[in-house]
Amino acid sequence: MAKRGKCLCGAVSFEFSGAENWRGHCHCESCRRNTSSPFTTWFGVPNEAFSFTGKMPKTYASSPGARRMFCGDCGTPIAFEHDKFPHEIHLYAASLEDPRIFSRIFILIGTSGCIGCSGAMVCPNTRPHRLEHGP
Ligand SMILES: [Zn+2]
Ligand SMILES: [Zn+2]
Repeated sequence: MAKRGKCLCGAVSFEFSGAENWRGHCHCESCRRNTSSPFTTWFGVPNEAFSFTGKMPKTYASSPGARRMFCGDCGTPIAFEHDKFPHEIHLYAASLEDPRIFSRIFILIGTSGCIGCSGAMVCPNTRPHRLEHGP
């Protein structure tokens, strides 16, 4: 069964099938600025299992090789691609239509940029990171 997600206004939507390749919280500076949040929660899906189903998102090249996609109407961040990961697309767990399909098992990435540990914000960073994702 297809799993679906969408932006705030619903213009950009996507679906994928099968299991996620991985799931992780990223604390890198680009993700913090991209979402105006202390961290964001990602998952990776194989390109062949994924498709956009609504309006195509706009793309912003946030660093060499990196493309961040967002809704051109409401601005919601919707996806991430990087030349380092040519076979998968990265999606925001928060954009899923039914977050209950999302596993609660996460890895931690970009933790060198973690600002949650200042104690000012809630931070899930309790283990060392195992994967580079950003910027
Ligand atoms: Zn939108
Ligand atoms: Zn990041």
